[in-house]
Amino acid sequence: MLLRLRKALPPEQLQAVLELARELGYRPSFLDERKELLRLEGLGRPEHRSRFEDLVGVSAILDAGTATELHERAGRPDTVVTVGEARFGGGSVSLIAGPCAVESWPRLLETAREVQRHGATLLRGGAWKPRSSPYSFQGMKQEGLELLARVRAETGIGIVTEVLDPRDVEAVGAVADMFQIGARSMQNAPLLVEVGKYGKPVLLKRAFSATIRELCLAAEFVLAQGNRDVILCERGVRGFDPTTRNLLDVGAVAHLKRATHLPVIVDPSHAAGRSDLVRPLARAGIAAGADGLIVEVHPDPSEVHSDGSQAVTPETFGQIAADTRAIAALDSRRLIEPSLSSIER
Ligand code: PEP
Ligand code: MN
Repeated sequence: MLLRLRKALPPEQLQAVLELARELGYRPSFLDERKELLRLEGLGRPEHRSRFEDLVGVSAILDAGTATELHERAGRPDTVVTVGEARFGGGSVSLIAGPCAVESWPRLLETAREVQRHGATLLRGGAWKPRSSPYSFQGMKQEGLELLARVRAETGIGIVTEVLDPRDVEAVGAVADMFQIGARSMQNAPLLVEVGKYGKPVLLKRAFSATIRELCLAAEFVLAQGNRDVILCERGVRGFDPTTRNLLDVGAVAHLKRATHLPVIVDPSHAAGRSDLVRPLARAGIAAGADGLIVEVHPDPSEVHSDGSQAVTPETFGQIAADTRAIAALDSRRLIEPSLSSIER
């Protein structure tokens, strides 16, 4: 590992750095006369980088050496996350689609059948909704969860649904095939630890003003619990222009595919905030290397309780699936399709 220390470090701060280095089993040596570049020889561990970053005397980790964190690529092959019929990573691309929120049994069943017929292997839909206003629709909660369990039994489609509160992890985990951690919860450490312990796959959405490093460290909370099934989701960051709801950070997608081994998917719906832009942003996401998409779909957007202006019809979703199939094939990747038997059920 190579550390840059602050200039003219007081002796006690320098001592603290050297003591930590020795405590963690490193042999420290300075590379320069001013004692600003400190080389640490020894076997690194994932937790070491943050330990040094926390010291007042350390200004930067120039090279983490063998102290790589669990999310880092570090020469590792793609992690492939399998959820029901869906597979993300390692050249496999999958689609998650469904309503923003669970709203009623007939609509949920209809939407599940439609998205499955058009290429989704997983159904999304929030029972608990993280809303910006306490007066907005907060979701059907436990009742919504029961409808998700029922639609899974009826259609065989896997369920992706959000958990907002660490106290609900058991209940949501009993129904969900994959937990969704929403943008507003990305840095809720107790929640990340609970879903990490539970062990089911986790879809981690980037907060709208989180740096890529913060997203990776949020994933690290889950990984550090021994749960390796984490999928990162770029859903747009806050921009300055209200024309689109958020700015889809396609650069982050391309970067994360290189810097981490975790699957990365794109949510074009919350990035656009407008149904007419969902398809082009979905294309951009797959072209940038995303291993999948999560798309808000509703048979009748005019009756949606939340995020109605960004819902696309099942037909548009079918076009997005066709685009995905074609764009993924350009770099020898493959869209995982729902099996015929699951569609015919
Ligand atoms: C959602 O997926 O409906 C949602 C609330 O997304 P985000 O957490 O990205 O805002
Ligand atoms: Mn939504």
